[in-house]
Amino acid sequence: VTPPPSARGDVTPAGLLVRNAHLATMVGGAGPYGVIRDGALASAGGRITWVGPEASLPAGLAAGEVLDAGGAWVTPGLVDCHTHLVFGGDRAGEFERRLQGASYEEIALAGGGIVSTVRATRAATDEELVSSARGRLELLGRRGVTTAEIKSGYGLDVHTELRMLRVARAVGEATGVRVQTTLLGAHALPPEYRDDRAGYVRLVCEAMIPAAVEAGLVDAVDAFCEEIAFTPAECARVFDAAAVHGLPVRLHADQRTDQGGAALAARHGARSADHLEHASVDGVRAMAEAGTVAVLLPGAAHFLRDDTVPPVEAFRAHGVPMAVATDLNPGSSPLLDPLLALGLACLLFGLTPEEALAGMTRVGARALGREGEIGTLEAGKRADLAVWRVGHPAELCYWMGAAPCVAVVRGGLVVTDL
Ligand SMILES: [Zn+2]
Repeated sequence: VTPPPSARGDVTPAGLLVRNAHLATMVGGAGPYGVIRDGALASAGGRITWVGPEASLPAGLAAGEVLDAGGAWVTPGLVDCHTHLVFGGDRAGEFERRLQGASYEEIALAGGGIVSTVRATRAATDEELVSSARGRLELLGRRGVTTAEIKSGYGLDVHTELRMLRVARAVGEATGVRVQTTLLGAHALPPEYRDDRAGYVRLVCEAMIPAAVEAGLVDAVDAFCEEIAFTPAECARVFDAAAVHGLPVRLHADQRTDQGGAALAARHGARSADHLEHASVDGVRAMAEAGTVAVLLPGAAHFLRDDTVPPVEAFRAHGVPMAVATDLNPGSSPLLDPLLALGLACLLFGLTPEEALAGMTRVGARALGREGEIGTLEAGKRADLAVWRVGHPAELCYWMGAAPCVAVVRGGLVVTDL
């Protein structure tokens, strides 16, 4: 019988000991990747209790389960802080039309684009939505993601938006990947409101947000600020409604044109502004002052063949933290591989591999308001880890299409049958 921690002196018994590992702790300011070579990590009760060189492992640190990493690298579990992975149908047909010459705007104006996914999502049963979303989240999970954010935004009516949030929560339960839900009612104008923009924004603010809060289904509110979506003033109204309910906000900002989205997000104390290919330096400065994270989504830039690069130098110069996410969605980023997102962040946007990996660990956690809980390997944080068969962390950004994740740990529980 193991005596309780209080009876064993100052060392808490470990539920799990990971040993024979190189650790990329991703702790800020701890050197490149926060590396600890020949390291070990202990956890108990789902939390990390000790991290350090294996040679310094406290003698009294009794482990329940031991995971011998065999010299593999261990990072924090990946945090994919921006996805739209619950949706009906797919847009492969539209992809084909686009490559035959149609533009994103032409497709949207012809009833394609987001609205076609709205039709398919409204028509799908709960079971169909769960089944397809579960498959996608399982893939992310197998590839090292232990926390994912999932947005609504393909329902665009109160009933379907809530259904999407419910499905997002359900696939989190089913897969073991932690899920945060974001209400994106202001994603596109639904066809039935084509001539009543103000009416739809009112629906989002006065019906959708309160209903999602009432149902306990929402962790944050997002909006799409763009010529083809909502104006800055409309997004501001949505943010004000979120604030009434104490919900944090995020913004799809300045992706295709500079709408002043970065500054708008900053003015509302947004956790993040996302995309930002066309953000101005003034916007970047405002984000720095507000502590708003820049979420970079290179999958969308790649898929849309947009070679505009977000102002990465300005983010660095002003100290705006950069997150990287898959943006997994059917229309502009059908990207199921978190490591490919990291590689594209390096190759398309010029991030260093270390910046990219920080963007999907420490900074991704910050975009979700979870930096105290996840995103680095530190005592006190959740024991969410990914174990990689690589010789150096930069390989996580370097290989295209490799599958180096050999195990994940979720809340101290080892999953190896990936
Ligand atoms: Zn998005």
